[in-house]
Amino acid sequence: NGAVRVNMSNVDSPLQIFVRAKKKINDIFVEIDDYVKDAVTFMHAVTGENGIATPQDLANVEAYVSKVQAIREVLKRDHMKVAFFGRTSNGKSTVINAMLHDKILPSGIGHTTNCFLQVEGSDTDESFLRTEGSEEKLNVQSVSQLGHALCATRLQECSLVHVYWPRELCALLRDDVVLVDSPGVDVTPNLDEWIDKYCLDADVFVLVANAESTLMVTEKNFFHKVSTKISQPNIFILNNRWDASASEPEYLDQVRTQHANRCVDFLSRELRVCSPKEAEERIFFISAKEALLTRMREREKPVSSPILAEGHQVRYFEFVDFERKFEECISKSAVRTKFAQHSRRGKNIAAEVMAALEVIYNTASDQKAAKVEKQRILHEQLSAIEEQLTTITRQMKDKINRMVESVEHKVSLTLSQ
Ligand code: GDP
Repeated sequence: NGAVRVNMSNVDSPLQIFVRAKKKINDIFVEIDDYVKDAVTFMHAVTGENGIATPQDLANVEAYVSKVQAIREVLKRDHMKVAFFGRTSNGKSTVINAMLHDKILPSGIGHTTNCFLQVEGSDTDESFLRTEGSEEKLNVQSVSQLGHALCATRLQECSLVHVYWPRELCALLRDDVVLVDSPGVDVTPNLDEWIDKYCLDADVFVLVANAESTLMVTEKNFFHKVSTKISQPNIFILNNRWDASASEPEYLDQVRTQHANRCVDFLSRELRVCSPKEAEERIFFISAKEALLTRMREREKPVSSPILAEGHQVRYFEFVDFERKFEECISKSAVRTKFAQHSRRGKNIAAEVMAALEVIYNTASDQKAAKVEKQRILHEQLSAIEEQLTTITRQMKDKINRMVESVEHKVSLTLSQ
């Protein structure tokens, strides 16, 4: 079916920071799960009649089982999320396709949807669509089918469509990256609603700008709103369609410097999300169309082969450079935001279960000490009685002796008379 599997090893990819951290924290939670279950078994053994623990103690420890289970579920599904924004036709879908090394999302003139498309890995070999809130899977085999399916399903503006694509076909999907394509920021006024619904958990934002024009107010406004809702969002700016510059090589440097300065200014001075130096590392001049074409050729997919414009290799390297910096940024940011909280929670659960067991241990020790004390008191009481008995016996003995003596005396007196 023409599907080419990604065999390339990606152990060097910065995404592995996230992948490894995810594996580690999942393993740790398996251990916490075992520990909590062992604690429950122990509590069962010491609860009940004459037991040390009360049914409430048992229930308290048992409650941790479902808590740990819930965290494990979330951890299994945790991913890195990148959201793409920009005006219609700036090339958002093409950038996503180039990053996925395949034409997955429909792009081009005439294709505009009002919905958000979230591309994520499917665990099976199938590719399918699912609209938010529905369980129905719509099988799609190709981009044109996807385009048709999107037009056919009556989508509300601002709705979300999940596009599941076999993980094994794209390295990014395999490493748990989820990519969100948005309707152009120029087509809807509902920016606030968008941000609240789809962006609050994004680890990275990519603004796909058009290098043939300057940043637009609508594009800027969107990010102003984002930065009021998210503290220090990670934003990359792609000046796409940089292949257009090949036709005017004499202005290339000048135009690039002008665009770059404006973008640095926007990120550092206007949005204040990073320093000017950091901003320089977040701005790239690329051609998504060329990058996609190059990758389709690499995978021996049939493509129409226009001659690529002068300088395409440099643009392609810049695209690859963007991907590397992006991967580093998203994976570090996701580890921080997604796992820090869970590892804290895991630590607390382990400590709380230990505290509960300690209470039981202390009760048991107290009870043991009380028993020993009781025995000691009993022993003392017995000794006292013993002593009393000895005294009484001695006194009795004396008395009897004296009586015997007096009787003997009297008898001898009587006899001698
Ligand atoms: P979107 O609406 O932002 O998702 O934009 P698309 O990805 O659908 O792209 C719109 C049109 O621009 C398509 O015809 C693409 O082939 C074209 N396009 C995208 N990137 C580039 C590029 O880097 N250079 C050129 N020349 N055209 C591009």
